[in-house]
Amino acid sequence: MNYLFPPSVPAVPIAGRDVLFPVQRIWCVGRNYADHAREVGADPEREPPFFFAKPAQAIVPGGGAVPYPPGTENLQHEIELVVAISKGGANIAVADAPSHVFGYAVGLDLTRRDLQAAAKQKGHPWEMGKGFDHSAPISEIVDARSIGHPNRGAIRLAVNGTKRQSGDLSEMIWSVPEVIAELSRLVALAAGDLLFTGTPAGVGRLVPGDRVSGSIEHIGALEVEIVGADASRARK
Ligand code: MN
Repeated sequence: MNYLFPPSVPAVPIAGRDVLFPVQRIWCVGRNYADHAREVGADPEREPPFFFAKPAQAIVPGGGAVPYPPGTENLQHEIELVVAISKGGANIAVADAPSHVFGYAVGLDLTRRDLQAAAKQKGHPWEMGKGFDHSAPISEIVDARSIGHPNRGAIRLAVNGTKRQSGDLSEMIWSVPEVIAELSRLVALAAGDLLFTGTPAGVGRLVPGDRVSGSIEHIGALEVEIVGADASRARK
């Protein structure tokens, strides 16, 4: 049988390789750094990890131009370590979790904070605040065989050269292996899944024309420019 129309397979470049990482699903962890949990009014001590998802088509591989999304007046940046899964499984033990990881990347969990806040207040789903088009810019993926499985290292984000977010991977409330183990109790992970692992404090607003620079020590960097109708006039 043929497809009714050609399927689209979102994919992310892999550093130093001429093959692409095909993306199946994007899983995200909420509030995984204590300082960010506090800045959004949550108690970092008492919350188990919780998860939400974005469509795979939300990725912006390699960064670059990101159109300012519709329906929001408060687009915000969240710099995050992204884990690329190459071996699926359910009920993965913490000790086995690294063997399911292909590699790591730098990601942006772009958020329509006003829509997310309204959804929280009404008890509505988060998708329109989190899972919109172009909401998941991601750097090339670095193979864990070349960098290992980092559990520390600076994670930073600047907007137009001014520091906004600065933290360390060691400040995660739930470590990457713990996140994998917990998530795999709720869904069977699959090869091609990406995990956005939460953001440190300092999330803030973006406007058209902003240049966003994210980096994670030992892993890489991600450059994004927010573009929109006004940006083309503002930019020289
Ligand atoms: Mn996030």
